[in-house]
Amino acid sequence: MSDFVSQFVRPNIQSMRGYVPGEQPQTGKFIKLNTNENPYPPSESIRPAVQAALEGLARYPDAHSTAFRLQASRTLGVPEDWILCGNGSDDILTILTRTFVGQEDAILYPTPSYVLYETLAQIQGASVLKRPFREDWKLAESFCEPDPRIKLVYLANPNSPSGTVLTPDEVRELARRLPYPFLVDEAYVDFAETHCVDLVREFPHVMVSRTLSKSYSLAGLRFGFVIARPEVIQELSKVKDSYNCDSLSIAAATAALSDTAWLEQTRTRILKTRAELEAGMSDLGFQVTPSQANFVWSTHSERSLQSIYEQLKAQRILVRYMNYDGWGEGLRVSVGTDDQNSAFLTTLRSIVK
Ligand SMILES: *Cc1c(COP(=O)(O)O)cnc(C)c1O
Repeated sequence: MSDFVSQFVRPNIQSMRGYVPGEQPQTGKFIKLNTNENPYPPSESIRPAVQAALEGLARYPDAHSTAFRLQASRTLGVPEDWILCGNGSDDILTILTRTFVGQEDAILYPTPSYVLYETLAQIQGASVLKRPFREDWKLAESFCEPDPRIKLVYLANPNSPSGTVLTPDEVRELARRLPYPFLVDEAYVDFAETHCVDLVREFPHVMVSRTLSKSYSLAGLRFGFVIARPEVIQELSKVKDSYNCDSLSIAAATAALSDTAWLEQTRTRILKTRAELEAGMSDLGFQVTPSQANFVWSTHSERSLQSIYEQLKAQRILVRYMNYDGWGEGLRVSVGTDDQNSAFLTTLRSIVK
């Protein structure tokens, strides 16, 4: 390592590994079922919206994404000053972590879950308290054990990689017992039966984040938001980049969110294919966790999952192989189109037979 790096880069940065996102092959034709993108094109309504926004590119964007917040306020039924937008919900997670968590503090979250939470803690020089899910993907009593170092709780709900949910009543109980800033990360909630937005009204310390990356087919756009009390939003606003959302993405995200018919139609398709994926993998001997997201988590008691992942990749099908320290491994498969799903199941059958 160069002297410069070892002398000046903060030690916590030097020792961290950095978040490694799922593979995004830029060449070659893959059936891509590894990063939970939506397989369908986004709402057509974003085309004219982006076209119109092109005219204004000489100017800085609206620092507060007002057009989007007004639309989200109508769609979700929360006042617009309860909403803060971000460059993807990863940006929201960064803003929250920087706002609440300092050196020597700790973040609490259940494991296995979204790996980025740990990375964000490491950047702050904070530590992580990872408390395991039970076998049934619910949380044990011990999850709520207090610790004075906890400054932020992350709960992905639906969870990744499991696709499971805690009900609003279960989350309410956690919020009661954990009096710390508490983010319910609802990246996949449009594929689920319940959501926790109402808890933001009930508890001053509960916040809910959403993204347009998955359910709205806009992973490439980078747009997400958080719902929290206005006094919290004001603090978060101080931490965000002043222009964290650009004019084109604000315009596209606003149009996408207002096309509720598109969302309904896409959700219906994905839930139908998800049921076929679950049934197909079960037939092939996989233990499949019933999912409320646009992906399915599975294990196999007799086959090497890493080898299955590699054989699929050799046949140009990408899924996510996960191996969590001290917890175990599994395959996470995103729900594709019906054609992609059939091709995946056919190839999988030829591998495990
Ligand atoms: C995909 C994902 C996100 C972030 O999505 P963005 O593309 O940054 O909006 C956040 N949380 C979880 C659990 C996710 O899976």
